[in-house]
This record gives sequence, structure tokens and C-alpha cells, in this order.
Amino acid sequence: MSTQRGALSEPDLLLSQCLIDGEWIGGEGAPIAVDDPFTGETIGTVPRLDKDHANRAIDAAARAFPGWAGRTAQDRGRVLRKWYDLIVTHKEDLARLITRENGKTLAEARGEVDYGAGFMEFYADEATRVMGETIPAPVPGRRLLAEREPVGVCAAITPWNFPLAMMTRKVGPALAAGCTVVGKPATATPLTALAFARLGEEAGVPRGVLNMLTGSAAGIGGAITASSTVRKLSFTGSTEIGEQLYRECAGTMKRLSLELGGNAPLLIFDDADLATAVETAAVAKFRNSGQSCIAANRIYVQQGIYDRFLAAFAARVQGMKAGDGFDPASDIGPLIDRAAVDKVSEHRDAALAGGGRLLAGGGDAGGLLFHPTLVADVTPDAQLACEETFGPLAGVISFGTLEQGLQLANDTPFGLAAYMCAQDPATIARVSRGLESGMVGINTGLISSPHAPFGGVKMSGLGREGSHHGLEEYLNIKYLCHAGL
Ligand code: NAP
Repeated sequence: MSTQRGALSEPDLLLSQCLIDGEWIGGEGAPIAVDDPFTGETIGTVPRLDKDHANRAIDAAARAFPGWAGRTAQDRGRVLRKWYDLIVTHKEDLARLITRENGKTLAEARGEVDYGAGFMEFYADEATRVMGETIPAPVPGRRLLAEREPVGVCAAITPWNFPLAMMTRKVGPALAAGCTVVGKPATATPLTALAFARLGEEAGVPRGVLNMLTGSAAGIGGAITASSTVRKLSFTGSTEIGEQLYRECAGTMKRLSLELGGNAPLLIFDDADLATAVETAAVAKFRNSGQSCIAANRIYVQQGIYDRFLAAFAARVQGMKAGDGFDPASDIGPLIDRAAVDKVSEHRDAALAGGGRLLAGGGDAGGLLFHPTLVADVTPDAQLACEETFGPLAGVISFGTLEQGLQLANDTPFGLAAYMCAQDPATIARVSRGLESGMVGINTGLISSPHAPFGGVKMSGLGREGSHHGLEEYLNIKYLCHAGL
């Protein structure tokens, strides 16, 4: 990196090549510049690879598969454990890379490294817990078994908002199961994934077991979806691209995990603890500058606590600062690009035009920064309540009864995360069961963990990542019927 700002203690982790079949290679055309969203400075370049490179990577992963799948689970687990140790050793450099290419604060980037490394640690152990079943035979003289085996070559396509964790969440369980992987990180933030692949090599991941490609999304993605060698695609990103990939994978009947967009509601009930509600809203809305698929996009507050909540939440939001991710005084960093700033501005304008009251922040803070912003008295049909804002704009809507709150919360095609703050156990039970979402945070805005199943329902996708459920996504069940015994 050209300046001291965010310089790496181990410069070799800033890579400008991709990994295919154990070789680090460049592309033929002009490389892609990776820019720091805070300074606009180019911090590195990555190859512009296409379909042919993707097919080479798929072939390499297919060649590597029998050897990797044939190793003992303990052996694969040891490689993952060493990889985890290396990520922890290089935590500071990885966090700096994340802050530089993504813009999030260094504190959040360090948190992401811990979270991302956690998947490698968890699946290092989980590799040894892939069990089969013996089924009581309905016919004498027979033995029925169900075994689990790795699905084969897998592809992992990830977004820019968590450049390390979205990749470890896929690669960890895939390799633990015995699969091999072709990875493609987002073009805006590819450097962290390349560094992660470099550490994998050091940990002893054999050639071809992990391949990491940057470049044309359509070219690489198209090769992956068309290939009958690739038996599974795990994609995290927008619902729009997820739908397209779902269709593209139909012809080869791949297994799919689709972790797509969200539109998470936060319901705050009259009996909620005020401090907990404010903290939940602050974390669920503003973490990662609001650029999280599980960000609370709509905050519904019951009438009895509405004014008290707004006063306390406004004070909290007014105290937040947008700035350079490397400045410890910054609470949130810049957004990823100009289109992201424009989208947040559009949602704010629409909310204010619809009668909303601006209680904190307001807008553009220079460059790609956007002040943490709070608008009250938003109408349920406001744009910010219907579409994923993906930015630091909180809109608050009031509701009356529990049923009205639930109806508003579920009035969306999406169903990734939802949050609620209340103290009455009956309210918690009724609402958490009634919410149409894959995950529910109760009196907390921080729900992600390598140990828990992450994923959505409705248009938020298919499958689960994290926990033992995340490993199942990379395993096929094979039934053995042994007769004549
Ligand atoms: P995106 O535009 O869908 O891109 C995601 C990934 O897909 C990137 O690597 C992108 O490559 C690639 N891609 C784009 N077009 C493709 C194609 N035709 N074939 C194959 N790959 C293609 O999403 P994003 O803007 O990066 O991420 C934000 C979205 O992700 C939000 O909707 C957010 O909610 C969602 N998200 C969901 C989760 C979850 O777990 N549910 C987690 C994080 C984010 P390029 O970068 O090269 O275009």
C-alpha cells in the first residue's frame, strides 16, 4: 500500500493475483483497480479473469476432490485449525485490509475477523462429527444405513459487505465436509479473500482444493452455473442476482444455498426496557454503516413507548459520527459507492416528503460518508420500509396492538432477520413465533454467530450457514441397503 494509512505489517498479504490449481496467476487484460471508499485512492489491483479461467479452476477443483475427500476428517480438521490460527495471527493485517477496501471502522473490521475466523475454528472441530445412521430394517436379513458424503466441487460467490466472513462461512464447512471450492469474492472487495486464500496455502490446503478468482461476475458465474462438475453453489448477495443464479442452476440441478437480501423489522413493545431498546436499535440499524443484510430496516414502536424511545434514540444517533474507518472517533465509515449514498438519500427524501420528522443527522457528510440519520413518524408504505436501504438511515413507525405490529413486520416479501424488544414472556413467545423470518433477535441487535444457523425464508433465500446445519449443506445422504444377511 502506498501510504502508512492502513499499511500491512506483512505486505505479502496484499495480493494482485488469483489462485488456480495452486498457482498464483494474473489475467490477460487490464487489471481491476480496488479503491478505498474513504480516500478514493487505489489500494491494489486484481486480475480480470473470465469464463476460461473459471473452467480451469473447476477442473482443478475436480482433480483435487478425491484426494481431499479421501483424507480423514481429523486431518482436514487440522488444516482448518491451522488456517484459523493463521487468521488470528494476522488479525490486524486482515482487519486493515477490510477497512481499506470496504470502509468499515477498524473496530468493526477486527470484529469481522473474529467472526470470520470463528467459522474456521468451528468447522475444524465439526469435520469430525459427520455421522451416519443405522435404520431398523423392516425386512429380516437386511441392514439399512444412511451415510453422509461430500457433495463434490462447490462454488462460493460472496458480496462486499463482509469480505472475510462471507467467504469463511462457505469455505470452512465446504472443506470440512471434504468438498473442494471455486471462490469468487465481490469486485469491490476482493483483497481480503485473496489474503485468506494465501493463508490457506500456508495452512496446508493442497493445490486445487481452494481456488480464488476475481473478474467478470457474469463470465465466472456463468461458467459455474453451466458446469455439471460443480455440484453446489453457495451465493450470498442480492435477491435479484440470487434469482438469476437459481434459474441458471436449474439445468445442472445443483444444490443451492442462497443468502439473499433482507428487510428486517424491529418491533419495540410498550413494556420494553428503554435502554435495551435503544441499544438494540442502534446496533441492528447502524452496524457496518447499515450495510448489512440483517440491518433493522424498519423500526416499529408501540404507541405507549413511542415518544420516550424517540427522545432516547435521537440522543444516541446524534452522538454517532461518520468518518474515516481508521479514526477511532468514527462510529461508522463511508458507504461502498456513490450509488449507495444516492439510495440512502432517496429513501430519506421520500420519508420526509411523506410527513417524516428529521430527528438526527440528515445526509451527505462528504465523499461517501452519510451522517447517521433518524426520521420519525414514517408511514408504513414509505420506501425505506419497503426496500432494503443498506445505509445509516433509521425510520421509525408507530403501531397500536401486537397484531398490528406483527402484520406490519410480516408485510414484506423478505424474511431474513427480525428483532423485537419486550419483557412479557407471552408477548415474546407470540411475536417470535409469528414473525415470518429465519432469525429473530430478542432484546438484542447482535445475533450472528458461527455456532448458530443463519439464513432466511421467503425471498431472503434457501439454506443455512453456520452451526451443524451449515455443514449439512455440503453433504449428500447416501442410503445403503444390504440384503442377504
Ligand atoms: P450482488 O450485486 O448480488 O453481488 C454479490 C456477488 O455476486 C458479487 O460477488 C458479485 O460480483 C456477484 N455477481 C453479480 N452478478 C453475478 C452474476 N450474473 N453471476 C454470478 N455472480 C454475480 O450483491 P452485493 O451488492 O455485493 O451485496 C449486497 C446484497 O447482499 C444485499 O442485498 C444484502 O442484503 C445481501 N447480503 C445477504 C447476506 C445474507 O447472508 N443473507 C449477507 C450479506 C449480504 P461483482 O462484485 O463482480 O458484481
